[in-house]
Amino acid sequence: MKKILTALCILLTIGGNAQQEEDKAILEKIYKNALVNGKSYEWLDYLSNQIGGRLSGSLNAQKAVEWGEKELKALGLDRVWLQPVMVPKWTRGVTEIAYIETEPGKTTSFPICALGGSVPTPIGGLKAEIIEVKGLEELATLGKEKIAGKVVFYNRPMQADLIQTFEAYGGCVDQRYAGAAEAGKYGAVGVIVRSMNLRLDDYPHTGSMSYGDLKDTQKIPAAAISTNGAELLSTLLALNKKAKFHLNMNCRTWKDVQSYNVIGEIKGSEYPNEYMVVGGHLDSWDLGDGSHDDGAGIVQSMEVLRLFKEIGYKPKRSIRVVMFMNEENGLRGGKKYAKVAKQKGENHVFALESDAGGFTPRGFSFDCNDATFTQVESWKPLFEPYLIHYFAKGGSGADIGPLKKEGITLAGLRPDSQRYFDYHHAKNDTFDAVNKRELELGAATMTSLMYLFDKYGTK
Ligand SMILES: [Zn+2]
Repeated sequence: MKKILTALCILLTIGGNAQQEEDKAILEKIYKNALVNGKSYEWLDYLSNQIGGRLSGSLNAQKAVEWGEKELKALGLDRVWLQPVMVPKWTRGVTEIAYIETEPGKTTSFPICALGGSVPTPIGGLKAEIIEVKGLEELATLGKEKIAGKVVFYNRPMQADLIQTFEAYGGCVDQRYAGAAEAGKYGAVGVIVRSMNLRLDDYPHTGSMSYGDLKDTQKIPAAAISTNGAELLSTLLALNKKAKFHLNMNCRTWKDVQSYNVIGEIKGSEYPNEYMVVGGHLDSWDLGDGSHDDGAGIVQSMEVLRLFKEIGYKPKRSIRVVMFMNEENGLRGGKKYAKVAKQKGENHVFALESDAGGFTPRGFSFDCNDATFTQVESWKPLFEPYLIHYFAKGGSGADIGPLKKEGITLAGLRPDSQRYFDYHHAKNDTFDAVNKRELELGAATMTSLMYLFDKYGTK
């Protein structure tokens, strides 16, 4: 009996080693192909430079949908289709203007941009005193008496000692998201928010905001100011609290419009009814061309399916690439995809999103059970040659979030995050800010993880 057990153990070890060798060889093929024959960079060039910024509901967003469908069809997938989704439409209008008048006739201008979803200023702009606060709590302490009739200037910087810059973002973004809703309750006439950017520069960074349950009459215009601008404004205010702030914006919200998620699928050879998703969001803000956010995630996700075809790997499970629409100002695409999947009773077992920029990949974060996470940790040695070492439990991605349910594993690609907020939602998020090799390494890393989950499943 003992002899039989020993023989079995040896056989299992040999089998395990053979599997490991096979996995190692497949990963080598994936990385080599991504770096030598990759298409992600070429795709991103087109999406960024030929189409450009693609805010939901815009003509460019529609062009991106048509481009995505065409490129997926060219990959020879088993099925490519558009999933209809209604999205909000908001337009920025002419360039915003902001300046402070420290004494009659003496003005200093600031680079600002309206936050997505903001109401416009009255025609001709508004003019009021401005009061600086470090956040929503300070606003509440000041109350209506000090706030009514003024512009509120939220100026809490991102926390510099946090290594994960997304945490620093998370600790600040309440000012942008809820700043106008809160200030509006106290009768403020406008809101200026320090850009979510760790460095000092002249780019204002837009982003989504909400008026919560404010009545239309209480809604006030909201804009972001560059970090340099915020520093200067703060200094000028310290010298003259009575200075008058001028703000002029003519942004506008329109009726919802028809748009689409773009989906491509390779049918599984063994478990066609088990679905694995890889994706990013096709929409972007309007200021730059959305190369990092999230053009990178889109082309990397497309590359996963292309690489499978290229190396001749036939997935056991059905693999879908999903280009989600409207992550930035509504998440309608992510919600719609999950809703349809539920209605159709599609069994989604794994979803991976890349929406943290096209920088050097470090690893992944996982929203999964302990057994699956242990399995992921056993794959670590396979990734070591590619300097991929970060495997942690945590969040995944906004678009795949609505798929969350018992038994699904969600994951997010985690690139180095130190430079991400230099570009996030700003005019300088452009193609030249993305490094070809970093982008390709991200695509190969994602493909490798998809391969391993397809082969071994989740636990
Ligand atoms: Zn994004």
